[in-house]
Amino acid sequence: MSADHLPEHPDFLWRNPDPKKSYDAIIVGGGGHGLATAYFLAKNHGMTNIAILEKGWLAGGNMARNTTIIRSNYLWDESAAIYEHALKLWEILPEELEYDFLFSQRGVMNLAHTLGDVRESMRRVGANRLNGVDAEWLDPDQVKELCPILNTSDNIRYPVMGATYQPRAGIAKHDHVAWAFARKCDELGVDIIQNCEVTGFIKDGNRVTGVKTSRGNINTEKVGLCAAGHSSVLAEMAGFRLPIQSHPLQALVSELHEPVHPTVVMSNHVHVYVSQAHKGELVMGAGVDSYNGYGQRGSFHVIEEQMAAAVELFPIFARAHVLRTWGGIVDTTLDASPIVGLTPVENMFVNCGWGTGGFKGTPAAGLTFAHTIATGTPHKLNKPFALERFETGALIDEHGAAAVAH
Ligand SMILES: Cc1cc2nc3c(=O)[nH]c(=O)nc-3n(C[C@H](O)[C@H](O)[C@H](O)COP(=O)(O)OP(=O)(O)OC[C@H]3O[C@@H](n4cnc5c(N)ncnc54)[C@H](O)[C@@H]3O)c2cc1C
Repeated sequence: MSADHLPEHPDFLWRNPDPKKSYDAIIVGGGGHGLATAYFLAKNHGMTNIAILEKGWLAGGNMARNTTIIRSNYLWDESAAIYEHALKLWEILPEELEYDFLFSQRGVMNLAHTLGDVRESMRRVGANRLNGVDAEWLDPDQVKELCPILNTSDNIRYPVMGATYQPRAGIAKHDHVAWAFARKCDELGVDIIQNCEVTGFIKDGNRVTGVKTSRGNINTEKVGLCAAGHSSVLAEMAGFRLPIQSHPLQALVSELHEPVHPTVVMSNHVHVYVSQAHKGELVMGAGVDSYNGYGQRGSFHVIEEQMAAAVELFPIFARAHVLRTWGGIVDTTLDASPIVGLTPVENMFVNCGWGTGGFKGTPAAGLTFAHTIATGTPHKLNKPFALERFETGALIDEHGAAAVAH
């Protein structure tokens, strides 16, 4: 069948060129962050002689394995600023990229189950409002009204005592987001090169001048690392260390159901989050598997515990069947915030550490990282997330926000 018959199939949305001998910039990693970075490099900075090198297939990493929650209700000013900027970009991107990736602002609820949760949640709502993020506190009756299938009775292990709610938050279709960026990158002249693993770096003194790949050496003036779970592996190849631990993070979907779940519900305490995808699957996730690893799979007991939590909160799902489970490799930092900026190697830049929550940050990560690569300086939104904070101690501790994969 020809391309004319399947115009929307991803194989026909971009070219598959062979690598050139040299580029002005190379982005390592063909996930959402690499694609968004290349897009903004081309669009905002006129850098079109660039390539994205992906060791597997486009979006085969965390990009098309995540559970697509998009929200900006982070506690600290620095995080609220970058995630809220991302949310504003999500709101205009379908039009800008001319691709409907099913961005659905159906709201996200974070449940509170203890007095400690309630106090922290109310603090967060206050902090969010001061930062211009739409945030509300819901009492249990309001929770029930917004999500009638949620068990808000007093008789469960951890009764729902209220919730924070961000109405503009929601979900999107992750693979379509990747295709949308890829198509625009391609139109702007970016080479997207799949099955091309970066295996080392070529340096002149402390300056990077090229990359070694499974498809030969390529010269370049600048390198941007967007390799998520493999970031520390690449940094080691380049001769520096990143404070990243890579963990498996799992998720699952049920068989298809009629639309029953109107919003996204997250519970740090009972430890699960549940949404319903456009097709009808229930999408569930929880926290990382606690050991380090590079396998895109995890342990069964983690899945079992998150299903038990889901059934406690949503008894209506007790007889739903699991259709499939999978895992990604998430790049976690000790303050649960990303690392974006310069590295000890001249002309090499890093964007990583987004851990369990980087899908929502994709557009702002791309926009600000592109600025950093093009100008060699931080963008005002990514400046607080520089690698130096692990030396200065100026951490941005979002662990409260990241206790559940999101
Ligand atoms: C199960 C799960 C659920 C999640 N849920 C959410 C959520 O609901 N909301 C949210 O905001 N975030 C969520 N996340 C996190 C989010 O997916 C990530 O933070 C984000 O996708 C990371 O950026 P990325 O898309 O560029 O990474 P990736 O898609 O992983 O891209 C990195 C790419 O680099 C490539 N690569 C690695 N090494 C090399 C090399 N040597 N040479 C060439 N290429 C290389 C990899 O193959 C990969 O494709 C979740 C993650 C998982 C795993």
